[in-house]
Amino acid sequence: MLPTGACVTLGEAATICVECTDCGRSRWWRPFELYRFDGVKASTPLEALSARLSCSGCKDDGLPGKNISVQVGFVTDRSRMRAEAHQVNSQATPGRGSRAIGA
Ligand SMILES: [Zn+2]
Repeated sequence: MLPTGACVTLGEAATICVECTDCGRSRWWRPFELYRFDGVKASTPLEALSARLSCSGCKDDGLPGKNISVQVGFVTDRSRMRAEAHQVNSQATPGRGSRAIGA
């Protein structure tokens, strides 16, 4: 189960989807690519990230471009591997193996 955005920091995310809800532009970023924005660093919670970003496309059109929504692609490799390992385990548990031996 993925953690909710509230407790994930930018440094824990592998990829971030930043989408402008005004114009629909979206882009996938690596976290380090976002560190160049003011106040954005590895310890920035994802829920605070959207307030620190703005849409360059909307700004070009003279709009504030502040309706940004942020989505995590997946969190660190370590937690992703843990999630995958859990999936493998739960697939193995229903006793498929023992039924095969019995037949
Ligand atoms: Zn926009």
